[in-house]
Order: sequence, then structure tokens, then C-alpha cells
Amino acid sequence: MQKTMRSGLVPKVMLEEHEGLSDFIPHVSVVVPIKDEVDSLPHLLEAIASILTTHQLTYEIICVDDGSVDGSVKFLKEQGAIRSDLKVVILRRNYGQTAAMAAGFHYAIGRAIVTLDADLQNDPSDIPMMLAKLDEGYDLVSGWREKRQDKALTRLLPSKIANWLIRHITGVEIHDYGCSLKAYSAELVRDMNLYGELHRFLPVLAYIEGARITEVKVKHHSRRFGSSKYGLSRTFRVLMDLLTIVFMKKFLTRPMHVFGLLGVVATFSGAAIAIYLTYIKIYEQQEIGNRPLLTLAVLLLVTGIQLFCFGLLAELLMRTYHESQSRPIYRVREIVTKNHK
Ligand code: UDP
Ligand code: MG
Repeated sequence: MQKTMRSGLVPKVMLEEHEGLSDFIPHVSVVVPIKDEVDSLPHLLEAIASILTTHQLTYEIICVDDGSVDGSVKFLKEQGAIRSDLKVVILRRNYGQTAAMAAGFHYAIGRAIVTLDADLQNDPSDIPMMLAKLDEGYDLVSGWREKRQDKALTRLLPSKIANWLIRHITGVEIHDYGCSLKAYSAELVRDMNLYGELHRFLPVLAYIEGARITEVKVKHHSRRFGSSKYGLSRTFRVLMDLLTIVFMKKFLTRPMHVFGLLGVVATFSGAAIAIYLTYIKIYEQQEIGNRPLLTLAVLLLVTGIQLFCFGLLAELLMRTYHESQSRPIYRVREIVTKNHK
């Protein structure tokens, strides 16, 4: 592999953390989450290495084993011991694809990070084109499996619906959230925390962080070896994650603006109705005990106060969220000054 100069793009802390492990910063770190893919792995490593070498890109492959039980670990350990372009991270148990990717991000030192599946469904030959897009100034390039090779009823249909929902609810215009083949600038990835099945929402999280996002059409093949780790139940988990994301996107910095407003509107309308009912009870001597309006007034008052309190609590939580991680509420793209040290 060629050696490249250390780039100012890589945060100092990452350099220190990996000091001694590696003395160069590759153009790209390819992160691959792996759960029982022993038959695909030799082909995958070969394909990544040959396409990147052909394009004269320096690289490291980070294989994250996510609790495989089929011999993947043995193969990876053997390869890790002899290949200088491979870093093998073995997790203690199966944590899921998102956690495996997060682990890969942690150990990646490249200037760009590319993720792809280990099952050869994504094609490494798309990587150089995606890196070229990053060079155009994008922070995230998402793959779009336009001709996706999966089962129509159990995979394509739910995915079409989920993508449509996510696109319309979040307003981030990407066709294929589920595509693992994505390229990121390293700084962007380091700003993001992943939970649940959130890796598919990385474009939305990135959008919240102010990233420039684009998508490119990529190749997709049917599975040659092994079987898919997911079924229909994933759709439900994705929908729940979508709720979380919508919440984060809307309320991350000022929850009180939303909950406070709703709370005030509910409390005031409840109070207005209650005053009206009191008025007709006292001055018009009407019976109000059996009126549905009374129930509505009480309901509005109670929910209004609850919403208000919830808003306050959310404000406190958000503050803890930002301050505990020293996360500023803004993101700097670059700083330009003549007096740079
Ligand atoms: N994977 C993983 N941990 C899991 C499930 C899957 O690391 O718990 C990996 C898997 O080995 C593959 C990628 O995530 O490299 C995508 O999984 P799969 O191909 O089963 O998903 P599909 O392409 O069918 O959506
Ligand atoms: Mg797959």
C-alpha cells in the first residue's frame, strides 16, 4: 500500500488513539459488519483490495465480526494476522448491524469511510465513484439500489413503503435508506451516535448535523452465499426508529417550543370552556354536570398542564444530552483565518 501524508482532516484525538497502530492515514476505511458470512468473505476482501488498488487509493478494510458462529471469526483472524490492509474487530456477541458499524467507525482512521455489506450484495466497484462524489464537497453519499435483487413481497414492498414514509416524514430526499453502501467524510461520522437500527437513518442524522447529502445509483446482486439475517419484523423496528428520529429532528434543541405551545393552547382552551360553564351554572342556573363540554374542559386542562411539564422535562433532558457529551448545538463546516497556527 502507498503511504500518504497525515491529513489535517483527521481529528487529533483519533490520531493519538491510533498512535503506534498505524503511521499513515488511508484515503478510505471500508467498514464491513459481518454475521455468519464465511463463504463470501474471501471474495469480498479480494474485490475491495483489487478495485481500490487499481484506482490507486490507499485503504484499510475494517471487518467487524458481530457474533458469527460459522467460521467467519477463524477466517478473519487468519487473514488479520497476515494482511496489512485488514483490521479485524471481533465483538463479544451479536449486537446487530448498527452496533457493528459503530464499532467499525470507532476504529476507522481513513479520511473517508465507506460501509458495505459482507454478503457481496453491494459491489465494491462502486466505491471509487462514491469517493469522487465526496471530493466534490459532499459529506455523505448514499447508494441507491435501483435494481435491487431481493424478494419482491417480503423485502422490496416493505422497503418501498418504508422509504416513502421516511422520505416524506423527514424531508430528506433519498430513495434507498436501507442501502448499506454509503460513503461518509470521516469528520461527519465521528459527530454521530448510533442506537437501535439507526444506521439506515444516518442520512437523516447527518442532515440534522448540517451535512451535505447526495445519492448515486449503485449495483446490487442477489445473495450468493448464506442467508439474510432479517425478515419482515424489521419493518416494525424501522418504524419505531423513524418516530425517534422525527422527535430528534424536531425537538433536539428546543422541545419547549413545541410542547410548551401545545400545553398553553390546551390549558387556555380548557380554562375558557370551564369559565363558560361556570358562568351558565351561576347566572343561568343550568345543570352542567351531565354536559360533555365539562369532560372536554377537564381533559384539556389536565393534558395541557402535562404537556407543559413534559416540555420542561424534555428541555432538561436535551440540556443533559448536549452538555454531558460536550456536544455544541452547532456544527462548524470550516474555519478560515489568516492567523492559523
Ligand atoms: N449483519 C451483522 N449483524 C447482524 C445482522 C447482519 O453484522 O446482526 C451484517 C451481515 O453480515 C451483512 C449485513 O449486516 O453483512 C447486512 O445483513 P443482511 O445481508 O442479512 O441484510 P439484507 O441485505 O438482507 O437487508
Ligand atoms: Mg444482504
